[in-house]
Amino acid sequence: MKLRIMIPTVALLFLVGCQNEPTTSQNETNSSTNSEVSSSTVEESQASSESSLSPEEVKEQEMLAELPDVSTKDWNLILVNNWNPIDETLEIPLEEVADQKEIDARIMEPYESWMNAASQSGYNIFLASSYRSVDRQRANYNNSIQQYINEGYSEEEATKMTEDYIAIPGGSEHHTGLAVDMIDSEWLNSGKGLVPEYDTQESQHWLVDTAADYGFILRFPKNKEEATGIQYESWHFRYVGVENAQFIKKYDLALEEYIELLEKAGKTEDQ
Ligand SMILES: [Zn+2]
Repeated sequence: MKLRIMIPTVALLFLVGCQNEPTTSQNETNSSTNSEVSSSTVEESQASSESSLSPEEVKEQEMLAELPDVSTKDWNLILVNNWNPIDETLEIPLEEVADQKEIDARIMEPYESWMNAASQSGYNIFLASSYRSVDRQRANYNNSIQQYINEGYSEEEATKMTEDYIAIPGGSEHHTGLAVDMIDSEWLNSGKGLVPEYDTQESQHWLVDTAADYGFILRFPKNKEEATGIQYESWHFRYVGVENAQFIKKYDLALEEYIELLEKAGKTEDQ
């Protein structure tokens, strides 16, 4: 039995191996005549694209058609990440939400409604971090690097490990006043803090499930590290408004991907 299976496999491997070589050399000769064939290739691909869109293209068409009537210039869609540092002249209407903690006053009502709903559902949510100035971020960032260096890592390693979770000063979404880090008090009291494993807790599932109803998104989801530049954070939520949040949740997007989609649709005007 084993032998019979083995023989065709070996033969197949051999065939594949043989096919590879001539294909490579054909490609090389083709590249010199590419300019001649390119126009007809474009026509062909245009003709076929109408009838056979890839699943990704179909999904994108569907998303573009469903985009809400918003603009990338809306205050609640401001994008701040390591590639888009905040404009430090931007004036944010801050308001105190908890002891020495501030958020953008425009999100006070949705935030408080959300937290009231949380306590009604039996969850005691603790606001670990909200608005943070660029200076404060600089201190956090430098402290983290120093801590890793003290533990014996090189400066390069320490910087890399820091940047997995801590945005470079100016690149933190906490500068906008629209981001909140949340864990429940039980989790905090058990000595655990802002770690990905907070997602083993029921309160975290509740936050993720209800966030969009109040205009928030889980900002750094799993498997979106490439788009966001930040590792998975089970505790960091960001206000974007209800219609944006619902769209982002429905299509499982990172904020960066959503903004890109809005740009593609030309939704970039001042409103
Ligand atoms: Zn955060």
